[in-house]
Amino acid sequence: MGKYTKGLTERRHHTQLNEGYCLICGSFGPLSWDHVPPKGSITITKVEQAHLTELIGINPDPVVGIKSPNGSKFRTICKHCNSTHLGANDDEVARVYKTMSDKIRHYFMTAGSPVYSVHMQIDGMRFCRAMVGHVLSATTVKECLEKPIPLPYYEPLQRFVMGDDAATDETHDFYVWFYPYRRHMSIKLFTCRNRGHVANLSLLSFFPLSFLITEKGQGIYPSGATPLRPSDSVLLVKLDSGHLPYAAFPNTGLQGDQMILLDSSRSIVSYPI
Ligand SMILES: [Zn+2]
Repeated sequence: MGKYTKGLTERRHHTQLNEGYCLICGSFGPLSWDHVPPKGSITITKVEQAHLTELIGINPDPVVGIKSPNGSKFRTICKHCNSTHLGANDDEVARVYKTMSDKIRHYFMTAGSPVYSVHMQIDGMRFCRAMVGHVLSATTVKECLEKPIPLPYYEPLQRFVMGDDAATDETHDFYVWFYPYRRHMSIKLFTCRNRGHVANLSLLSFFPLSFLITEKGQGIYPSGATPLRPSDSVLLVKLDSGHLPYAAFPNTGLQGDQMILLDSSRSIVSYPI
């Protein structure tokens, strides 16, 4: 009881940090609230937040989420980054999520389609910029407490969010796939091993899409994923049912030498209540 209460208090305390280092530009100052998933792309409802490690049973503490009356929020970035780099591109995320929801619903209501996918026009640059920005912000505010040191995995992602269109061309790949669940999942960084290969990955999943960031050419991703480059103008999403067992990746069970390393404070799940 004591241990658990302390953990909960710490987490509550850390969601209320007023100032710190911005996780995108690195500047010190007041922090502003970022909704993840972004406003406009989901219906904001009362949600509960928990750590993925609690839900999949690694953490022995009972699962009691933190309730929020208006969606899942993180106060880890400055107001400028929030409005200029994320907010200004969130309408493209909202448009893509809305259009894809409609197309996917139509696909499953229309029996006998000869094509097992849907596609739409997309502004890949704006979509990827906002999604990467939300991935960087959706984490524990503990990361805002200390002056950031440049890390090879994050540095190109931060420059990309701040407007350098080509920053991730040689360093990262992005993937998208159909995610048919109500639960939202954000994991700022996890390590995955598959057949002797080890990769660092980041993920943001909310209905109806998952967005995955991998190191360039090093990706481990589920079979239904399609690559999305910032320069792309078309988004294709596969819908054949063979991929569905892997859609909740990385929360899909492990086979062979597969292994996943998660830092619980960087893997956050929220769900409508
Ligand atoms: Zn900033």
